[in-house]
Amino acid sequence: MIARVSLEIALRKEFDYAIPPELADRVDVGSRVQVPFGPRKVLGVVTAVAEESAQARLKPILKIIGAQTLVTARVLKLARWMADYYCCAPEIALKSILPEAVRKEAASWRERLFVTALPVQDDFPKLPKRQLEVWNIVEERREISLSELVELAETTAATVRKLEDRGLVRVAPQITERDPYANEQILPSQPLVLNAAQAKALAAVTTAMDAKQGDRALKSGTFLLHGVTGSGKTEVYLQAIATALAQGKGAIVLVPEISLTPQTVERFKSRFSHGSNHTLVAVLHSHLSAGERHDEWHKIRQGRARIVIGARSAIFAPVEPLGLIVVDEEHEHTYKQEEAPRYNARDVAIMRGQMEGAAVVLGSATPSLESYHNCQRGKFTLLELPERVDNQKMPYVRVVDMRQAARGGKGPPTFSPQLKEAITQRLEKGEQTILFLNRRGYSTALECTQCGFVATCPNCSLSLTYHRPEQKLRCHVCNHIEPVPAACPKCKNPQIRYSGLGTQKVEDTLNKLFPQARVQRMDSDLLKRKEDYRRILGDFRTGKIDILVGTQMIAKGLHFPNVTLVGIIYADMALHQPDFRAGERTFQLLTQVAGRAGRGEVEGEVFVQAFTPFHPAIQYARRHDFIGFYEQEIEFRKQLNYPPFSRVALLTLRGHNEDKVKFSAEHVRKELDKLSTENNPEPLSLALSPSAGERVAEGRVRGAFKDLNIAGPAPAPLLRAENYYRYQLMLRTTQMSKLSLALAELVNRLELPEGVTLTVDIDPTGLS
Ligand code: ADP
Ligand code: ZN
Repeated sequence: MIARVSLEIALRKEFDYAIPPELADRVDVGSRVQVPFGPRKVLGVVTAVAEESAQARLKPILKIIGAQTLVTARVLKLARWMADYYCCAPEIALKSILPEAVRKEAASWRERLFVTALPVQDDFPKLPKRQLEVWNIVEERREISLSELVELAETTAATVRKLEDRGLVRVAPQITERDPYANEQILPSQPLVLNAAQAKALAAVTTAMDAKQGDRALKSGTFLLHGVTGSGKTEVYLQAIATALAQGKGAIVLVPEISLTPQTVERFKSRFSHGSNHTLVAVLHSHLSAGERHDEWHKIRQGRARIVIGARSAIFAPVEPLGLIVVDEEHEHTYKQEEAPRYNARDVAIMRGQMEGAAVVLGSATPSLESYHNCQRGKFTLLELPERVDNQKMPYVRVVDMRQAARGGKGPPTFSPQLKEAITQRLEKGEQTILFLNRRGYSTALECTQCGFVATCPNCSLSLTYHRPEQKLRCHVCNHIEPVPAACPKCKNPQIRYSGLGTQKVEDTLNKLFPQARVQRMDSDLLKRKEDYRRILGDFRTGKIDILVGTQMIAKGLHFPNVTLVGIIYADMALHQPDFRAGERTFQLLTQVAGRAGRGEVEGEVFVQAFTPFHPAIQYARRHDFIGFYEQEIEFRKQLNYPPFSRVALLTLRGHNEDKVKFSAEHVRKELDKLSTENNPEPLSLALSPSAGERVAEGRVRGAFKDLNIAGPAPAPLLRAENYYRYQLMLRTTQMSKLSLALAELVNRLELPEGVTLTVDIDPTGLS
C-alpha cells in the first residue's frame, strides 16, 4: 500500500510514500505523518491511500503523529474546496485547518507524575519520620500529583521515590487536561419560553435539521436571523443546539474574536456543559495557550466535546456528525482572514453546511448586503426577530450638522454645543456617557502653516499621527516612530499646526471642558493587556468612570444599564474612503454604537456629529431602518455592478521598486485580457486537486468569460505601505469559481521579476 502525502513545504505537489507494514492499519486519509524529504524529515497529511504508485522505489513513511487521523475526510474536502475557491495552494489551506498546537510533532497531552498508594502488605515497614509523614498523606488521598505532594509534605521527590522503592507507592505519568475555564463556576441554565417570533425562527431551523440530507431542497439549509441586539437571537441558537444534541449531532458557533468574552462562553457552558457533561463545550480562540488549544481540539476530535465556540478558524473544528453551524454577527469583516488562505469563515460555513447537510444560521442586527440579497432571491431563508425581548425602545438619535458648528470659528470644534450640553446634563444626573471615535492618537496630521509641509512616514504613503502622552509621531501602518519637530523641518517655521482628531485629543478636551468628570480613554494604545480591558470595563460598570472615550473596541456588545448618552464624534470619517462598502460599514458601525445607549430603565439618546448629515448611511441609521438602507444601497450596487451582483477578485502586486511593480501589473493586465477575449480552446490543465480536476473535466473552465470586468492596474489607496509599493487590479464576474481556477493557473505560470509578488484576494472585504 502507498500513501499520497501533501507536504507544507512543497506547494501544489503531492508525493507518494510506501506504508510500512507496522503502520499499515493506522495510516489513513487525514493521518498526519512524518516522511523523509531529501535529507530532511518533514510533516505532512495523507490525502489518499492507494494500491500502487506510478513512481518506483518509494521511501517509507517514518511515523504517525497523533493516535487518530487529525484531518477528517469531510474537513479535507472542505479544505480542497477552499484552496480552489480562494485560489491558494492546497498545502496552505490544509495547514490552516489544524491549529499549530495540534500540527506540531511535539504536541501532546500534558502528562504529570502522580503518586498512588499501593495496597499495604502485612509487614508494613518501619519508616523514618519524614517518609512516614509523606506516606500518611498519600494514603489519605489515595492519589496525588507528585508536585502537590512535595509541596504539601514540604519534602523532596527523592523522599517519595524512597517510598516507591519500598513498594508502598507507585509514581507514574498521567494525562491532566488543561481546561482554560477550570476555575469558573458554571451554574446550569434552563431554556426560556420563547416568544412568537423566536419560536417561529427555531421551528424553521429545526425542521431543516430534521430533514434527511436527500429530501431537503438544497437552498433551504441556510437561514439569516435578522434581529437587533437583545431580540433573543442567542436563545434561539441555544435551543437549536439542544435539538442538534438530541439528534446525536454537534454544533459550531462562530463569534467575532472581540465578542468571544467569558460572558459569551458562559452562556453556552451554562446551558450544556456542567457536572458530568463539563467537556461538552469546547472553546477555540487566540488567547488560549498552545497546550489548552491542543486539549480543546482533541476533546472535539474524540467526540467528548460536541459544541464548539470560537472565532474564525473554529469553522474547521472536527465536529462529527455536524448538525448546526451558527455564525453570529455574520456581517463582521473580521471573519475574513487577511493572509493566505484569504477565506471568509461565514462563506466557508455555508459551504460546510451544504457539504455535510448541516443547518446554517447567520445572525445579525445589520446583515451584510450579500446575505440579505440571498434571502431576497430565495437562496437563504429570512427569519426576523423584530422586537427586543424586554420591549425596550430604541434610543433616540439626533444628527448634528457639524458644518454649522464649524462656521465662524477656527475649524470644527470637537464637540458641538448640542453634544456638550447633553454631556453636562448626564454629569448632573449621575448618568454615564460613551463617546466614540474610530481613530487613535492625538491628531492625525502635523502641518506647517507656512510652507504646507506635512509629516509623513518614510515607509508608507501616510501622514504620521501625533501621540501626546509620549510626545512622538507614529505611523499607524508600520509603527515607525519619530520625535516631534520643534519647527518645520523644511522651512524652519516654528508655527506647526496639528489637525485631524484622535481619541487622545477628545480625552484632553473633555478634561478641559469638564474638569470634575472622571474620563477614561480606551483604545489599543492604552490596552496592551487583556486585564486592562477588563479592569476599565469593570470600573465603568461600577460607576467609577463618568465618560468612556474609545475606538471600535467599545462599539460591540457591551451592556451598561446606566449609559444614557452616546456621542459619535465624527460619523462620516469612514464614508469617504475609496471603497464601495464604505456606506455599508458606516451604517453598521453607527447602528452598533448607537445600540450602546439606553440598555436600562432610562431611554437612551445618541448624538451623531457629521459633516454630511444627509448621507443615506447616516439618515437610515438614525431611523434604525435597515430595510430602507438596504433598498437604496442595493440599487447603487446594482447600477455599478458591485457585489452582490458580481463577485470581486482583487489582485495586488507588491515590491520595493515602483517601476517594476507597475510594469508587472500591466503585464498581468495583458494576461487577464486574454481570459475575457480568448476562447480558451484547450482545457486548462490544473493539477491542483481532484475537485479542480473534476471541474476541468466538466469543461467549466473552458471558454471565455461571459462577464469578466477588469479594472486597473491602479495604485492601491495606500500606494506605499511598509516600504512596499502596491498596484491593484480589480476583477468582477458572476463566474467566480471559474475565475479562481483561471487565476490559479495564471499565478502558477506567471514569471514575475525578482522582488515583485502577486497576491489574489477573492471576495475581499476592503481595498487597502
Ligand atoms: P441577542 O442574542 O439577540 O442579543 P439574547 O438572546 O441575548 O439576544 O437575549 C437578550 C436577553 O433577553 C437575554 O438576557 C436573554 O436571557 C433574554 N431573553 C431571550 N429570550 C427570552 C425569552 N423568550 N423570554 C425571556 N427572556 C429572554
Ligand atoms: Zn509607516
